[in-house]
Amino acid sequence: MNDLLRKALTEGGADVVGFADVGDFLKPEIAHLTKAISIGVFRNLNENTVHLLGNLKRKAVLILKKEGFKYLSIPADSDRIKNTFIAKLYPLFPHKMAATSAGIGWIGRNGLLISPEHGPRLSLATVLTDAPLKTGTPITTTLCGDCTLCVEHCPSGAITGNKWSRRKPYVELVRLQNCRDHKKERRRVNGKPNCGLCINICPHGRKEHKRVRVVEDSRVQKKII
Ligand code: SF4
Ligand code: SF4
Repeated sequence: MNDLLRKALTEGGADVVGFADVGDFLKPEIAHLTKAISIGVFRNLNENTVHLLGNLKRKAVLILKKEGFKYLSIPADSDRIKNTFIAKLYPLFPHKMAATSAGIGWIGRNGLLISPEHGPRLSLATVLTDAPLKTGTPITTTLCGDCTLCVEHCPSGAITGNKWSRRKPYVELVRLQNCRDHKKERRRVNGKPNCGLCINICPHGRKEHKRVRVVEDSRVQKKII
């Protein structure tokens, strides 16, 4: 099953595919879907990326459906604000939880998933399922080490410098209001709300732009494309 999903997803454009056991983190409504397929693409989260992630999730769902397993496709981050039924499912499960549980990366001081290969530059999608997938080894604490580059360079002082761990998943990493206010001001001044300094400054993943990593069964397989 892992191989089938991995092959279909990488052929469909996924840069990272991981499999996670997320049974400990599920709300009662979805407690039966204990496995997660975490899909990452090395692209900014924009409309095209959301479209690609949607296609990849559909590929995974088709396979699960054909094999007779249950599934729930979690909406992309950018769909959270849309007033649709599916968008209301988003709070049920965060993509970053699936990705860290699959061993794809950790949550950096900037609040983003940091992958060793791609840094904070992966856009994520998740499909939950009851399929008996072999799962990766979770990353449970930050691997930022002594680095504080994003804290030092954040122009709004939004990044607190706190460290993430699975034992403290709700520690405040980013003061979201500071970040929002900064982007609002940028839009007012030059018409462009984007900041992204905390992504650009992160040393992880700067050079390794051409790797595919598949995490499963406690093994990390790397393939240069
Ligand atoms: S996007 Fe800019 S303002 Fe917001 S947290 Fe990152 S560096 Fe700070
Ligand atoms: S810039 Fe440094 S502290 Fe910030 S997320 Fe990247 S590795 Fe972590």
